[in-house]
Amino acid sequence: LSERLSGVFDRLTKQGALSEDDVKTALREVRVALLEADVSLPVARDFIKRVQDEATGQAVTKSITPGQQVVKIVHDALVATLKGEGEPGALKIDSPPAPILMVGLQGGGKTTTTAKLAKRLTERDGKRVLMASLDVNRPAAMEQLAILGSQIGVDTLPIVKGENPVQIAKRAKTQASMGGYDVYMLDTAGRLSIDEELMTQVEQVRDVATPRETILVVDGLTGQDAVNTAQNFDDRIGISGVVLTRMDGDGRGGAALSMRAVTGKPIKFVGLGEKMDALETFEPDRIAGRILGMGDIVSLVEKAQETIEAEQAERMMKRMAKGQFNMNDLRMQLEQMLKMGGMEGMMGMMPGMGKLSKQVADAGFDDKILKQQIAMIQSMTKKERAAPQILQASRKKRIARGSGMEVSDLNKLLKMHRQMSDMMKKLGKGKGGMMKQAMKA
Ligand code: GDP
Ligand code: MG
Repeated sequence: LSERLSGVFDRLTKQGALSEDDVKTALREVRVALLEADVSLPVARDFIKRVQDEATGQAVTKSITPGQQVVKIVHDALVATLKGEGEPGALKIDSPPAPILMVGLQGGGKTTTTAKLAKRLTERDGKRVLMASLDVNRPAAMEQLAILGSQIGVDTLPIVKGENPVQIAKRAKTQASMGGYDVYMLDTAGRLSIDEELMTQVEQVRDVATPRETILVVDGLTGQDAVNTAQNFDDRIGISGVVLTRMDGDGRGGAALSMRAVTGKPIKFVGLGEKMDALETFEPDRIAGRILGMGDIVSLVEKAQETIEAEQAERMMKRMAKGQFNMNDLRMQLEQMLKMGGMEGMMGMMPGMGKLSKQVADAGFDDKILKQQIAMIQSMTKKERAAPQILQASRKKRIARGSGMEVSDLNKLLKMHRQMSDMMKKLGKGKGGMMKQAMKA
């Protein structure tokens, strides 16, 4: 696939903005990549349509091709879809003992994942965990959990023959409260396919346990079936999250995307093997890379974009060193700050700016103020921006009105510009030119 793609990219070597044709050509290959990764057709189609609208007309970064740029846009959109809200890997396990209900089809990896998760909660989060198997259908199922428990040093509820799942769940709850456990995990029985009896049983257990988390464990290699299973369990039981197992296999992870797109439920963890520590927090970035299989292109584009930004900054530094610091420069600075999330970080990176940066921080610069300042500069004419000293009362009034601000706000902006430009001049003229030295560094 990568070869096929690079062929497409070679043909797309024009510079400038992404044309509709560029985008379409590249997306045709991306669509194939998604389907090969087992993303379901309607999900892939929807996704491509969204990216197409977003990508068309975007500027192409110098030194990469339009096709490469599209792949990066696709990658970022994939990450956004996979992520959803909330912290991946986070579980609601306050108010002990917090019940976690594990559900899914037989063979999906419920019992293994229950133990893996218990180990993680014990070792990483310092929780006291009790595990209970409610699988009265399969003869060896309860012993399986008990054995895993002793391997990882996590307690399991003693086995009492002849109980039904609801009775076991109640006993687990009592034992967890009396024993001072933080969490108790209920590993339910599965069926080979969804049936009424299974769902009714899980419903009853849910009503007894009122779980804080209901985790669906599903085989990530089963693609569309995994999504249907999730949909069914969510409709009947209500799930709070998903663990995709067998992500160590050959599958490209497309089930993750379909799962997110169709159910909207967070994928919390992925299973990466049979061993007890083969459970990892779900990382959208990694799965996106795997689905596309184009990680090299993504990092290439990131690199190119960084270079461009560095070049821009250097050009501005050069102008500033010569004492040329007009309103256009200030605007660029303000926009950078907005992007970088604060003035302090930006100024902190420039030598000799530490003190000013603190003043600026104390003055309470936030996004809103930055945006207002940019709006004021936008209301200036080209001439005014190049030479702000020509601003007298009537021009000021016009600019303030044009940007919905007061003349006093504009005066503050002009004062800041004056101070900054004085500082730049001083730095530029200083011994050997501090700015020049900084640029060499
Ligand atoms: P359950 O029926 O849902 O409880 O499934 P089990 O937990 O008994 O798992 C069924 C089989 O899948 C076992 O052989 C597990 O070792 C294996 N398994 C579970 N999770 C993973 C995983 O993430 N990767 C791999 N390769 N195997 C797994
Ligand atoms: Mg099991």
